[in-house]
Amino acid sequence: MSYSKIQHRELSILVGILVGVLLDVFATSNSITNFSLIDLIIFLAIPAMTGALAGFADPDHAIGNGILVGIIAGLVYVVIDAIRLPANVETNTVLFLGLVVPIWGFIGGTGSTFAHRTLTSTELRSPEPAVKICVNCKASNPPDALFCKNCGTKLAQELNGRVFAR
Ligand SMILES: [Zn+2]
Repeated sequence: MSYSKIQHRELSILVGILVGVLLDVFATSNSITNFSLIDLIIFLAIPAMTGALAGFADPDHAIGNGILVGIIAGLVYVVIDAIRLPANVETNTVLFLGLVVPIWGFIGGTGSTFAHRTLTSTELRSPEPAVKICVNCKASNPPDALFCKNCGTKLAQELNGRVFAR
Protein backbone atom coordinates (compact mmCIF):
# COMPACT_ATOMS: atom_id res chain seq x y z
CA MET A 1 0.00 0.00 0.00
CA SER A 2 1.40 3.39 -0.92
CA TYR A 3 -0.32 5.63 1.60
CA SER A 4 2.69 7.94 1.58
CA LYS A 5 1.36 9.53 -1.62
CA ILE A 6 -1.97 10.52 -0.11
CA GLN A 7 -0.66 11.98 3.11
CA HIS A 8 -2.52 15.19 2.65
CA ARG A 9 -4.73 16.05 5.51
CA GLU A 10 -7.44 17.71 3.42
CA LEU A 11 -7.70 14.74 1.06
CA SER A 12 -8.00 12.23 3.89
CA ILE A 13 -10.73 14.29 5.53
CA LEU A 14 -12.52 14.72 2.21
CA VAL A 15 -12.44 10.98 1.49
CA GLY A 16 -13.67 10.22 5.01
CA ILE A 17 -16.54 12.68 4.72
CA LEU A 18 -17.52 11.47 1.24
CA VAL A 19 -17.64 7.84 2.37
CA GLY A 20 -19.47 8.88 5.53
CA VAL A 21 -22.13 10.80 3.58
CA LEU A 22 -22.62 7.93 1.13
CA LEU A 23 -23.02 5.48 4.01
CA ASP A 24 -25.37 7.94 5.72
CA VAL A 25 -27.68 7.91 2.70
CA PHE A 26 -27.60 4.11 2.75
CA ALA A 27 -28.20 3.93 6.52
CA THR A 28 -31.12 6.37 6.50
CA SER A 29 -32.97 4.53 3.72
CA ASN A 30 -34.77 2.87 6.62
CA SER A 31 -36.68 5.37 8.75
CA ILE A 32 -35.18 6.05 12.16
CA THR A 33 -38.56 5.28 13.77
CA ASN A 34 -38.04 1.63 12.69
CA PHE A 35 -34.56 1.43 14.20
CA SER A 36 -33.45 -2.21 14.36
CA LEU A 37 -30.30 -4.14 15.27
CA ILE A 38 -28.84 -3.95 11.76
CA ASP A 39 -29.37 -0.18 11.83
CA LEU A 40 -27.46 -0.05 15.10
CA ILE A 41 -24.55 -2.00 13.59
CA ILE A 42 -24.48 0.30 10.55
CA PHE A 43 -24.84 3.26 12.89
CA LEU A 44 -21.67 2.28 14.76
CA ALA A 45 -19.79 1.06 11.68
CA ILE A 46 -20.05 4.31 9.70
CA PRO A 47 -17.99 6.55 12.02
CA ALA A 48 -15.57 3.71 12.78
CA MET A 49 -14.95 3.09 9.07
CA THR A 50 -14.71 6.73 8.05
CA GLY A 51 -12.47 7.47 11.03
CA ALA A 52 -10.21 4.54 10.15
CA LEU A 53 -10.09 5.71 6.52
CA ALA A 54 -9.03 9.19 7.56
CA GLY A 55 -6.44 7.66 9.90
CA PHE A 56 -4.95 5.42 7.21
CA ALA A 57 -4.78 8.23 4.66
CA ASP A 58 -3.05 10.64 7.00
CA PRO A 59 -1.51 8.92 10.05
CA ASP A 60 0.12 12.15 11.26
CA HIS A 61 -3.20 13.78 12.08
CA ALA A 62 -5.14 10.55 12.67
CA ILE A 63 -7.07 11.43 15.82
CA GLY A 64 -8.05 14.96 14.83
CA ASN A 65 -9.12 13.82 11.37
CA GLY A 66 -11.12 10.92 12.75
CA ILE A 67 -13.05 13.11 15.17
CA LEU A 68 -13.71 15.74 12.50
CA VAL A 69 -14.87 13.17 9.95
CA GLY A 70 -17.05 11.45 12.56
CA ILE A 71 -18.69 14.72 13.59
CA ILE A 72 -19.40 15.84 10.02
CA ALA A 73 -20.72 12.41 9.00
CA GLY A 74 -22.85 12.47 12.16
CA LEU A 75 -24.24 15.92 11.30
CA VAL A 76 -25.20 14.71 7.81
CA TYR A 77 -26.85 11.64 9.33
CA VAL A 78 -28.88 13.84 11.68
CA VAL A 79 -29.90 16.24 8.89
CA ILE A 80 -31.00 13.44 6.54
CA ASP A 81 -32.97 11.77 9.33
CA ALA A 82 -34.48 15.06 10.52
CA ILE A 83 -35.83 15.77 7.04
CA ARG A 84 -37.51 12.38 6.92
CA LEU A 85 -38.96 12.53 10.43
CA PRO A 86 -42.74 12.50 10.81
CA ALA A 87 -44.48 15.55 12.27
CA ASN A 88 -45.27 13.95 15.63
CA VAL A 89 -41.73 12.93 16.53
CA GLU A 90 -41.01 11.23 19.85
CA THR A 91 -38.69 12.83 22.42
CA ASN A 92 -36.50 9.72 22.41
CA THR A 93 -35.82 10.11 18.70
CA VAL A 94 -34.83 13.75 19.09
CA LEU A 95 -32.58 12.83 22.02
CA PHE A 96 -31.04 10.02 19.99
CA LEU A 97 -30.29 12.33 17.06
CA GLY A 98 -28.76 14.85 19.43
CA LEU A 99 -26.36 12.20 20.68
CA VAL A 100 -25.30 11.09 17.20
CA VAL A 101 -22.78 13.90 16.68
CA PRO A 102 -20.71 13.48 19.88
CA ILE A 103 -20.91 9.67 19.66
CA TRP A 104 -19.76 9.65 16.04
CA GLY A 105 -16.99 12.10 16.84
CA PHE A 106 -15.79 9.75 19.55
CA ILE A 107 -16.07 6.59 17.41
CA GLY A 108 -14.41 8.37 14.47
CA GLY A 109 -11.49 9.34 16.68
CA THR A 110 -11.24 5.79 18.05
CA GLY A 111 -11.31 4.23 14.57
CA SER A 112 -8.69 6.66 13.41
CA THR A 113 -6.46 5.98 16.41
CA PHE A 114 -6.78 2.26 15.75
CA ALA A 115 -5.76 2.76 12.12
CA HIS A 116 -2.84 4.89 13.25
CA ARG A 117 -1.69 2.23 15.73
CA THR A 118 -1.95 -0.48 13.08
CA LEU A 119 0.28 1.54 10.77
CA THR A 120 2.84 2.33 13.46
CA SER A 121 3.05 -1.26 14.69
CA THR A 122 3.51 -2.49 11.11
CA GLU A 123 6.48 -0.16 10.76
CA LEU A 124 7.95 -1.41 14.03
CA ARG A 125 7.63 -5.06 13.05
CA SER A 126 10.05 -4.72 10.14
CA PRO A 127 13.09 -2.83 11.43
CA GLU A 128 16.15 -2.50 9.23
CA PRO A 129 18.62 -5.21 10.18
CA ALA A 130 21.51 -3.60 12.01
CA VAL A 131 24.92 -4.97 11.13
CA LYS A 132 28.37 -4.18 12.43
CA ILE A 133 30.93 -3.49 9.75
CA CYS A 134 34.49 -4.37 10.68
CA VAL A 135 36.81 -1.34 10.39
CA ASN A 136 39.71 -3.63 9.49
CA CYS A 137 38.33 -5.99 6.81
CA LYS A 138 34.85 -4.50 6.06
CA ALA A 139 33.11 -7.81 6.84
CA SER A 140 29.49 -7.68 8.04
CA ASN A 141 28.92 -8.99 11.53
CA PRO A 142 25.78 -9.67 13.58
CA PRO A 143 24.68 -6.69 15.71
CA ASP A 144 25.53 -8.50 18.96
CA ALA A 145 29.05 -9.52 17.85
CA LEU A 146 31.94 -8.22 19.95
CA PHE A 147 34.73 -9.32 17.61
CA CYS A 148 34.86 -9.66 13.83
CA LYS A 149 34.03 -13.21 12.70
CA ASN A 150 36.48 -12.79 9.80
CA CYS A 151 39.62 -11.22 11.26
CA GLY A 152 38.98 -11.07 15.01
CA THR A 153 39.26 -7.28 15.31
CA LYS A 154 37.35 -5.84 18.27
CA LEU A 155 34.15 -4.26 16.91
CA ALA A 156 32.95 -0.79 17.87
CA GLN A 157 30.01 -0.59 20.25
CA GLU A 158 26.69 0.25 18.66
CA LEU A 159 25.67 3.84 18.51
CA ASN A 160 21.96 4.44 19.12
CA GLY A 161 21.39 0.71 18.78
CA ARG A 162 22.36 0.69 15.11
CA VAL A 163 25.47 0.66 13.00
CA PHE A 164 24.78 1.21 9.34
CA ALA A 165 26.69 -0.18 6.42
CA ARG A 166 28.56 2.39 4.35
ZN1 LIG B 1 37.30 -7.95 10.27
